[in-house]
Amino acid sequence: MDTNQPNSPASADLIIKHVWIVTMDEERRIFRDGAIAVKGDRITGVGPSPDILQNFRADTVIDGTDKFVITPGLVNGHVHVTGEPITRGLVPDNTDWQENVFGWLIPTYLSQTPQDEQLSAKLAALEMLRTGTTCFVEAGTILDLDATVQALNETGIRGRLGQWLQDRAFDPNDDQSELTKTAVAKMVAQQDRYPATEDTLLAAAPCLVGHNTATDELWREATHLAQDAHVGVTAHMSADPADPNYYLETSGARAIEHLANLDALGPHLSLTHAVHLDAHEVDLLAQTGTSVTHCPMTAMKGGYGATATGLFPEMSEKGVNILLGTDGANNGNSSDLMRAMFCSAGIFKDSRRNPNLFPATQILEMAT
Ligand SMILES: [Zn+2]
Repeated sequence: MDTNQPNSPASADLIIKHVWIVTMDEERRIFRDGAIAVKGDRITGVGPSPDILQNFRADTVIDGTDKFVITPGLVNGHVHVTGEPITRGLVPDNTDWQENVFGWLIPTYLSQTPQDEQLSAKLAALEMLRTGTTCFVEAGTILDLDATVQALNETGIRGRLGQWLQDRAFDPNDDQSELTKTAVAKMVAQQDRYPATEDTLLAAAPCLVGHNTATDELWREATHLAQDAHVGVTAHMSADPADPNYYLETSGARAIEHLANLDALGPHLSLTHAVHLDAHEVDLLAQTGTSVTHCPMTAMKGGYGATATGLFPEMSEKGVNILLGTDGANNGNSSDLMRAMFCSAGIFKDSRRNPNLFPATQILEMAT
């Protein structure tokens, strides 16, 4: 066949035909009898089945009638790929936030080995890939980033990850400046080892534990590094009133206001949970383009108050970019982002008695 002839079909490795395709392109087109063509690791054609079958030829053609709905790869905005995937279900349901984190999760994390972390990371990645997630933002590797990256590289998943970072000297015997210096050095070194380039599937990014565990200096350093390296910063914040209360007591401003005062807010930052905010904090997020990652399964298991107290409908109204995450396997109980989508599409409709909140298209936007 002369492939230089006009209108001759392009060569592809694989065509999947007669499927529903939710493109999430700018026009949000949906093809009810759609097809995609794939060559190598690239999707080279998407459209109605007759068009794709006319414009592409492939040795392998799969008829997806009544089998598939194809969407873009989902993006899990917050997942613990180490620490929890192999201990799922260990933490009792009836633990409040303090007991959950400090009584169970942290000791569990610290009892594991780098080999456990590799197993954990692979398990989390495989569960994500199996359920449609092709990209994730890690909450932070607990012990061994290099071992974790090595394991994840075998799975083909895309992600941004980094060592879990905190530096606040809670013990009076700790040397605050030494703790900060160590955390910053780790953060800089991991960015040098795993820079974000166009072809890189896995790259480093500052993953702060967040809450009240990072000093102002670490926040500033993480912000500058992320902006220079064109990566994001992620941190847990305001899952519980403890965070706004801490910042009010120590700085006179609520958590998000305090971050705004440090110039730490911006499109590079995603704050996970963000349940206990006030209206001014929502405004600050909207004004600065800061993202929030909502983890509905964790909120429901932990009783965070996402529907009772959370201002997620208000964030949506004001244009805050809301991502979805599955969080840790002991709280989210799953790395399947479809579950987070399902929960998010329903819980605010019910709590606000408003069926127009978070329609399906918006939920897909939050997940892609
Ligand atoms: Zn988390």
